[in-house]
Amino acid sequence: MTRVCVPVCEKTIEALETAAVRACESADVVELRIDCLTRLEDLQRVLSLVSRPVILTFRPREQGGNRDLDQQARQLFWGTAPQTQWWDLESDLTSVAKEPDWSHVIVSHHDFSGVPSDLTEIYERLAATPAAILKLAVQAHDITDCLPVFQLLDRAQAEKRYAIAIAMGNAGLATRILGPSRGAFLTYAVLEEENATAPGQITAQKLRSVYHVDEIDRETMICGLVGLPVMQSVSPHMHNAAFRNADLNGVYLPLEVRDVQTFFQRMVDPRTRELDWNLRGLSVTAPHKSAVLEFLDWIEPEAKEIGAVNTIVIEDGKLHGFNTDAAGFIAPLVDTLDSLNGLRVAVIGAGGAARAAVWALLKHDATVTLFARDADKARALGQVFDVSYEQLSSASFADHDLVINATPLGSGDLIDQTPATAEQLAGVRCVYDLGYNPIDTRLLKEASKAGCKTIRGLEMLVAQAGKQFALWTGRSPSMSVMYESAASALGH
Ligand code: NAP
Repeated sequence: MTRVCVPVCEKTIEALETAAVRACESADVVELRIDCLTRLEDLQRVLSLVSRPVILTFRPREQGGNRDLDQQARQLFWGTAPQTQWWDLESDLTSVAKEPDWSHVIVSHHDFSGVPSDLTEIYERLAATPAAILKLAVQAHDITDCLPVFQLLDRAQAEKRYAIAIAMGNAGLATRILGPSRGAFLTYAVLEEENATAPGQITAQKLRSVYHVDEIDRETMICGLVGLPVMQSVSPHMHNAAFRNADLNGVYLPLEVRDVQTFFQRMVDPRTRELDWNLRGLSVTAPHKSAVLEFLDWIEPEAKEIGAVNTIVIEDGKLHGFNTDAAGFIAPLVDTLDSLNGLRVAVIGAGGAARAAVWALLKHDATVTLFARDADKARALGQVFDVSYEQLSSASFADHDLVINATPLGSGDLIDQTPATAEQLAGVRCVYDLGYNPIDTRLLKEASKAGCKTIRGLEMLVAQAGKQFALWTGRSPSMSVMYESAASALGH
């Protein structure tokens, strides 16, 4: 059974009441974080309003709470605390004024600095108490910090103990999503992201409607996005919606990876990994698209030529690498322009996306000129593919049929910027912006003003994702489901 617990942490009793009632809409269990209240008040009214089982928590600051509390204050609180479904007692609270009903106690230990080297001993200390449930929360700095957490869950299951084990932080997200399927008594989620009571918590709504946490089991096929950063990605929205639409038991999660080599050795490669999980496929994004090549058993020739892999399939114990960026990039272009043969194309940027774009354009017999702010990088990429290059600052695009933006200009923090104005685009037939957040970038608006056809980066994003899905599942996804889920995640 999957339980989602939503902690509520408010300064006033009125705000606590409101938040607790709201939490009941998406939570199976509500945690009342009493340490967040600035003034302690009678809790009976709040408890009478909560229609879910309640965990009562009174956490001292040094264990991640919001209050300076000495032992005496904590003992006093628990001595008169109302009985709820569970009390969360920190493991150092060896005695409380009145003997608790241990069958309703979660004994907890938090480490916000990392994964303690004596984690096993800590687990054993918790397990030696009569508490019904053991809780261990550690801070993940890398995805591999999830391993000891999953191992604790395995051990607790083997020993028939109820346990909650979490790796906090973005790198630990897998423990929050997969934990219940691996025996965790519950997983924590927040009402709104800005209300997180621990790093890395996502909303209960997302846990249910994007990741379908209630439906994940040990047979679930697992896919994920390897990169840094990955939390902002819309890929989980697309792939999870496509799994569901195809009625497949699959889940796709962000995997925040710093050290690719260790990740592949300890978590991915079936010959060396330390985790028994049904890992089927990976998407790879910046900055790891080239770094992963050396860990693969086989790489398709196109990906080798491009020098980047964005898709990995794990099959028969081996790792196979593909590049779906190039085909995903070309698909919307061919739809819009029919043929690229002989077209004069300006590619702006000299990074990973530009590399796949140039490779694909040359395969379709276009004539390419590279424009980059860094002349050395433009020259280096230009020489790889034997295409001409120019400095972006002095660019005129008048002699080109097609202009492609493969830089972050116009996206994210650079939302107000554009690599070309309507004046610079006069006479250009089509403008394609690979950036997709926002969907309609400033460049695309400038292009419309100049009378050019436009192609959105979202088209490429969905096209390359559709090809990844097919490689992992052998099935064609619903492209409209993928498109709509991505667009909605981007606020459309
Ligand atoms: P990347 O490898 O980091 O390359 C980025 C390129 O943009 C580099 O040439 C960089 O130049 C240049 N650049 C960065 N900031 C710039 C600025 N302020 N002015 C001018 N040039 C600038 O990134 P990437 O993976 O190629 O991605 C590039 C863009 O394409 C991103 O917006 C990404 O989201 C988008 N993309 C979209 C899809 C899709 O499916 N739609 C797929 C892949 C990428 P320096 O080397 O000098 O920094």
